[in-house]
Amino acid sequence: MEFEFWWLLGFPLFFALGWLAARIDIKQVVTESRSVPNSYFRGLNFLLNEQPDKALDAFLEVVKLDPETIELHFTLGALFRKRGELDRAIRMHENLLERETLAEEDRLKALVELGQDYLKAGLLDRAEEVFTRLLETPFSGQARRNLLEIYVQEKDWHKAISAATELEKLSARPMIAEIAHFNCEIAALAMVKGDLESAQKHLDEALSVHRQCTRASIMMGDLLTMQGKIEEAIAAWRLIESQSSSHMVLVVDRMLENFKKLGRLEEGLNWLKGLLTRNPSLDMFNTLYHAVMESQGAEAAYQLARDELRRNPSLHALERLAEAELISAPENRREVIQNAKSLIQRHVQRLTRYHCASCGFKASQFFWRCPACGRWDGFDPARHEE
Ligand SMILES: [Zn+2]
Repeated sequence: MEFEFWWLLGFPLFFALGWLAARIDIKQVVTESRSVPNSYFRGLNFLLNEQPDKALDAFLEVVKLDPETIELHFTLGALFRKRGELDRAIRMHENLLERETLAEEDRLKALVELGQDYLKAGLLDRAEEVFTRLLETPFSGQARRNLLEIYVQEKDWHKAISAATELEKLSARPMIAEIAHFNCEIAALAMVKGDLESAQKHLDEALSVHRQCTRASIMMGDLLTMQGKIEEAIAAWRLIESQSSSHMVLVVDRMLENFKKLGRLEEGLNWLKGLLTRNPSLDMFNTLYHAVMESQGAEAAYQLARDELRRNPSLHALERLAEAELISAPENRREVIQNAKSLIQRHVQRLTRYHCASCGFKASQFFWRCPACGRWDGFDPARHEE
């Protein structure tokens, strides 16, 4: 084929067309950005710089200028809730729901948000009503999770068991640990009321759902003790070591008490010494120390504290050593030892706390469910010196 010079004319033509297309694109972007108020971009900027207060003011301005911005209503509602301004979050989502033109998907989304506002505000009845309405919608998974949270907060353990069972069917996440805890909660209430038969039934259920449920084994021992079955109670508690050895610390004092009732304290002390060698623990050592002090006297308790200090050096053991030494110390040394003991004690109280492995919350008391993040079994039963 021969080269024709007029083909060269095609190049400027292609350039011209490309330039024109780019102009049209830029023009469209500029028109669109002009239709979005400046305060929207200011709001976004504040949000990106983690300044939610300023972002909120900027977004409120946009909503005033353009009340039709539905997505912005959701953003604002979520921001209000995060800041704890729950009445404003509720109003935002209720206003959205009052719109007759709202699309079905947005209506359901607004209901989910409103339910969360109610839940956070502690308006559990209203939250329950909202999430129950969402059960047969595409948001059913989220609705069930929130309903479970509501039943737990209301301490309605029977409903919590049903909700968790349903949730387990829907999602791949096993809920056995939670269901076992709910049964333990019912058993605890039954024990307070003296309905030992119901307590037994729910503890059996807890262990059949979740064999590793240490709480059920602990409570089973308590139940047997209440029924005067001391030997069986000891056997039930011994099982805990195979479930989770760190949880043994929660029953050692009750265990020794039962050995004492049977007139076999010596056996109990030896058992505890063996356990302590396998699982060093501040609190187990404490229980053993007090039991030895009570049954064998200050000299034996002193020896115990000294051995512990060599094996597992801790302020805790040092405090016990000072305590035992103080008892037999001569008058001229008592003040020095007493001062040292008080100083150590202040540090020990400050440093030894239980903590949640999930959120890091610290407490002087052990909880089966973390009061901060709501996780079951989040707390490590062993206290540590930090
Ligand atoms: Zn927590």
